[in-house]
Amino acid sequence: MSFQEFGLDPRLLQAIADVGFEDPTPIQTQAIPILLEGKDLIASAATGSGKTAAFVLPILHRLLPKERGTTRVLILTPTRELAVQISDHLAGLAIHTPLAGAAIYGGVPMNPQARAFEQGADVIVGTPGRLLDHLRYDYADLSGVEVLVLDEADRMLDMGFLPDVRRIMDAIPRTRQTLLFSATLPPPIVKLSKDILRNPVTIRLQDKTRPADGIEQSVFPVRQEEKPALLAELLRREAHKSVIAFCRTKSRAEKVSRFLEREGIRCARIHGDRSQGQRLEALDGLKSGRYQVLVATDVAARGIDVEALSAVINVDVPRQAEDYVHRVGRTARAQLTGEAFTLVAPEEERELAKIEKVLGRKLPRRQLEGFVPQSFLESVGRRRGRYPATLAPGRSAAGAGRADGGAPAAASAPAAPARRALRDRELWEAMQAAQGGAFVPPRGVSLPSRRRR
Ligand code: AMP
Repeated sequence: MSFQEFGLDPRLLQAIADVGFEDPTPIQTQAIPILLEGKDLIASAATGSGKTAAFVLPILHRLLPKERGTTRVLILTPTRELAVQISDHLAGLAIHTPLAGAAIYGGVPMNPQARAFEQGADVIVGTPGRLLDHLRYDYADLSGVEVLVLDEADRMLDMGFLPDVRRIMDAIPRTRQTLLFSATLPPPIVKLSKDILRNPVTIRLQDKTRPADGIEQSVFPVRQEEKPALLAELLRREAHKSVIAFCRTKSRAEKVSRFLEREGIRCARIHGDRSQGQRLEALDGLKSGRYQVLVATDVAARGIDVEALSAVINVDVPRQAEDYVHRVGRTARAQLTGEAFTLVAPEEERELAKIEKVLGRKLPRRQLEGFVPQSFLESVGRRRGRYPATLAPGRSAAGAGRADGGAPAAASAPAAPARRALRDRELWEAMQAAQGGAFVPPRGVSLPSRRRR
């Protein structure tokens, strides 16, 4: 199937060629003909499937013959970042047409956004809260809306936006085309779809338990306190250009990003306490290559679309399998390939096992050769009063910086030759214990033969 076969307006085909899409993705192949017919649609398609163009293209095609000056399309999305991305994507695809969209989201002044309403932007892409703020004023007239899109509906549910979505529904005509996109279809979303869609066509594309093909997933066992150092080492060694590192909480994201900064890694952070300006700066910085890594919490990272994101690193094991799929879905978008690493501490193994059960397979365990946990150095220093030479603290290229960000321990102990030291069983066992049972000695160093764990 080619884009030409949909019968799309030549101006849209030109834009598709400009942005470099060669063939439609599966969701585009299935959804575009249905949407061009004006039918309602419910689609389970994850971010990265090409779903945005799947709804934007038919919407633009159907808007083209119509008179301008009325907002005819409303797209609701859970996050500001997603609103900006969809409207950027739309602007790119509408570039050869007079059509224009506007993004409406919180954290920035209302006035410029009010003008979009007043001018009757063809398409408004917005987050529910800010839209409701505008709807209190007379200028915000959505009575001309003909198409409503709910994007990432399951995320809107998670973030508590469904009551807002239902209130917005009261401000737009009942007769309209409605499209609902969601990575997963939990019961409240199915119920919502029954209430607001009319004889919808259903497309089940992305199984919630299966991240997109092309993602290489692996797990690094490591002790909790060694995670920042292992992350830094992974970022140095794997030469990934743009990475998102997920943390469970805001404070954790803060700590990890400060640690990376001290290690000289170009990084930015996004979480709930960051302002809109800071988030956009972080995202722009990642896209332009100013930052190698964005440390993020789940909510803040929702909907982020960075083309050619080369890796996702779960600094903490996500609580839910769906979050895992969502997180790793940030890499390998569309036809690209990517890697997803999960750092798992011994106490997180059970949560990881649950995720693996849902995925239907065990994720391969990996070890970073020669990565030396600080706790090991400290324990060896305490127990033996000496360090193996190649593992001496201060050699931070080997990941020996302190996990808590302090200065590396003083390299005062006399160094013994690394190979001999590593053959020592006691040392080896301490090393294994320090790294959650997963230490790979430097190349050429053989393992002790007895009592190997
Ligand atoms: P989405 O799932 O809409 O967030 O899109 C994910 C990424 O895939 C975006 O960066 C799009 O630019 C890209 N994309 C969408 N459709 C295609 C296509 N047909 N060919 C190549 N890339 C695409």
